[in-house]
Amino acid sequence: MQGQTPDSSFIDAVIVGNGPSALILSFILHGNIPCYNVDSPHPDPILHAKLKDATELLQLDVGRLTSHFEASRFPYSTQSLPINSLVDSLVRPFGETDDRDSSTCITWRHDPQRAVRHLALGETAQPGGQWTECPPGTTWDIQSLSYAGMLSLPGYSYYDHHYATHGSPLPAYTRPSRRGMAEYLAAYPRAVGIEDSTRNGQAVSGVSRTQDGFYIASHNIRCKHLILASGIFTEVKPARPLLQPLLSIPSQPSVPAKDKAPLLVIGSGFSAADIIISAARDQKIIHIFKWEPETSPSPLRSCHQQAYPEYAGVYKLMKRSTLPKFTTSRANRRSQAALSPFLKSREWDDIYEPLPNTLVVDVALNGAEGVVTFQRSDGSTFKRHVSGLSYAVGRKGSLAYLDKHLQREILGPQFDHSQDASIAKDTLVASAMADLEVAKDVFIIGSLTSDSLIRYAYGGCVYAAGKIIERCSRDQHCTDGGASPRPTLT
Ligand SMILES: Cc1cc2nc3c(=O)[nH]c(=O)nc-3n(C[C@H](O)[C@H](O)[C@H](O)COP(=O)(O)OP(=O)(O)OC[C@H]3O[C@@H](n4cnc5c(N)ncnc54)[C@H](O)[C@@H]3O)c2cc1C
Repeated sequence: MQGQTPDSSFIDAVIVGNGPSALILSFILHGNIPCYNVDSPHPDPILHAKLKDATELLQLDVGRLTSHFEASRFPYSTQSLPINSLVDSLVRPFGETDDRDSSTCITWRHDPQRAVRHLALGETAQPGGQWTECPPGTTWDIQSLSYAGMLSLPGYSYYDHHYATHGSPLPAYTRPSRRGMAEYLAAYPRAVGIEDSTRNGQAVSGVSRTQDGFYIASHNIRCKHLILASGIFTEVKPARPLLQPLLSIPSQPSVPAKDKAPLLVIGSGFSAADIIISAARDQKIIHIFKWEPETSPSPLRSCHQQAYPEYAGVYKLMKRSTLPKFTTSRANRRSQAALSPFLKSREWDDIYEPLPNTLVVDVALNGAEGVVTFQRSDGSTFKRHVSGLSYAVGRKGSLAYLDKHLQREILGPQFDHSQDASIAKDTLVASAMADLEVAKDVFIIGSLTSDSLIRYAYGGCVYAAGKIIERCSRDQHCTDGGASPRPTLT
């Protein structure tokens, strides 16, 4: 067992995960209390009126505060959970149109008396969750979807970090690279003083409910509250057995990309797009993707041409392949002129072969290449040589670190013990809508709640922290204002 304590210790809360949501929650549990700043009022006068006399935000009456959202002229998010939409709009009242936090309506008041003894245990080598990895086939330079302000955690923003490390301000509306984001998140715990509670390289397993809380067998820790921040992007969905041989084709770094057989990319979302964007300019690509715009549109569809030229560009290539071909040279010239720099950067007609709704029906290996038989939706088949496979149909999370009883408490009585406790984007959305406390003293935060963007993680963290801090203040296990020994792992 890794990270075991010599004696079983009892602490107020254990957070499973060390990604952005775990870091935000840990920041609050250190006694950083979010408060409504009446001197920087929300531009929605109705919301301001509801908040101005009760400024502490840990105990939010979400129903009352959001009851007018639907009819409001302010663009409150309707896609996210109400608590996430509410807190996001207080942190960033102007949303993406104001990337810096100068207009925020929240101040963080430090009150060490209300700190809660907790640990955030995450399996990655440094804090940052899924940002600590560079998915195969992509590069560390790939830009995030969100602007820096939307990725910033409380108390030390991405802008603060850039200034601290570069000595110059970062321009507003910057989309940080994956590397930049990983470095920011790695630096965050020390910058805001929460590194005493953040433990990396710690895979949690064997979590069970006890009479007075939970037991974490992997670390021999007992705790009163359990917060699941383990995310929905931990495991790559595996390719089906037929495709597996393509994954074992050795890469040939010495062969120039232009001389290689096409790379087969399967997937219709951001991960597949990242692989296409990261590929060498003259690497030929065969792209299989699901095209069902009415029932199951690609998430790339929502990417605006100006904000996300690469993702919008890949979407355009995919869409173009499903339309009748342009016939007049005038239409062709017009469409060429409208191309983004990304689309102009490669000879797409020569290197990109889109195959919407196409199936792989046979695979054979021929030396350092694969020979793949494809089947179109009309039943016709054809073959292509490929130099490898990038399978990017998505990722999933897992609650396998909980014992079967806890899994069932969270996933419901219909959960069959033979199932593998996988968590997709929508698995816990109904539970999250009802209550982020998905079982007694068990909370979900971050992407597990189905709101996967960092900006929406604040709401769940404020909610969970509010409940835990309130209960701890009346509980015998409550911290004594920092005088209790900090939880240790040896
Ligand atoms: C390719 C990609 C691009 C993205 N781009 C953006 C973007 O631009 N903007 C944005 O806001 N969001 C983006 N996201 C969404 C992403 O969900 C959030 O940015 C954020 O990482 C969510 O944080 P989290 O803390 O919920 O989970 P995660 O960051 O996923 O962290 C959870 C961590 O818990 C760990 N864990 C799981 N099980 C255990 C266990 N048993 N023991 C210990 N540790 C465990 C996991 O390994 C993981 O490291 C992107 C996601 C992906 C996949």
